[in-house]
Amino acid sequence: MKPPPFAYAKPANLAEALALKSEHGDDGAFLAGGQSLIATLNMRLSAPEILIDVNGIAELSGIEKQGNILRIGAMTRHRDIENSAEIAAHAPLIAAAITQVGHPAIRNRGTIGGSIAFADPAAEMPACLLALDGVIEIAGADGRRKVAAGDFFKGIYETDLGAGDILTAMEIPVQSDGWRNGFDEIGRRHGDYAMAGLAARLRIDGGKIAEARLVYFAVGGTPVLAVAAGEKLIGNGLTPDAIEAAAKALDSDLDPFDDLHCSAAMKRHLAGVLTSRVLGAMGDVENG
Ligand SMILES: Cc1cc2nc3c(=O)[nH]c(=O)nc-3n(C[C@H](O)[C@H](O)[C@H](O)COP(=O)(O)OP(=O)(O)OC[C@H]3O[C@@H](n4cnc5c(N)ncnc54)[C@H](O)[C@@H]3O)c2cc1C
Repeated sequence: MKPPPFAYAKPANLAEALALKSEHGDDGAFLAGGQSLIATLNMRLSAPEILIDVNGIAELSGIEKQGNILRIGAMTRHRDIENSAEIAAHAPLIAAAITQVGHPAIRNRGTIGGSIAFADPAAEMPACLLALDGVIEIAGADGRRKVAAGDFFKGIYETDLGAGDILTAMEIPVQSDGWRNGFDEIGRRHGDYAMAGLAARLRIDGGKIAEARLVYFAVGGTPVLAVAAGEKLIGNGLTPDAIEAAAKALDSDLDPFDDLHCSAAMKRHLAGVLTSRVLGAMGDVENG
């Protein structure tokens, strides 16, 4: 199918982009990598009157370590994240997950900001950002503000972004000593959106788990921080008993619904499988 007609503008800087967005509100859509937006246009799922192409705004791209924070510009392509030494060194969870985002052709054009703004509940980057306790920077008519990932994702394709806002960057804490990461997902084929996925972070102290951030995706309207499952791990090693208790606790953490790919019951089952698989692969905590 062809997209509905739309106007096109390519602002040279952020101020121009914001002026256009504030003029058109919800009738204007930012064009980032176009890997989701153009598909929704072609399927007539959205019909903005103007596309505001932000590919020419250099300040929106790049990865920079600023003290204990890693700042990732919204227009940074998935491929640049995949190839980044800074990401590999300071955000290994993202390094592990990024190769699961679609296929190379999609990662060449798609951007992390587009993925976070689009907020597909089955997407990898929103789950990683939540597991990392990241912060999203937003610019709008009233200036810039920062929103914790835990407050940003509101529902299926729904976020804290207002009609006049642009997502400018993500900030994540640089990985510090004691943290370990695990990531896996189950999909029909490599590169497909997940039927269920898990981005896991554990902080180990004195041979025991001191903090656990288990974030499941494709099992609800947003990525889900599984608090009850995480609590079952605190104070323990990664023993089979602790992992089984965490998997059982998911019953109260998750409330999946059927989607095009599988039933809610299947998603619950897959979340349990991923818990055993991901935590089981995170190593011997008690003996280093
Ligand atoms: C076949 C296929 C398979 C895919 N598989 C996966 C997958 O497995 N996992 C996954 O996570 N993704 C997958 N994707 C989507 C891909 O990751 C996209 O890159 C991503 O969802 C959107 O990024 P984009 O830069 O292309 O954004 P666009 O498509 O340009 O924009 C998406 C939406 O976000 C808005 N937007 C973009 N940037 C901003 C910004 N800075 N501020 C405010 N709003 C903004 C746009 O207006 C639009 O509404 C797949 C896509 C395809 C076509």
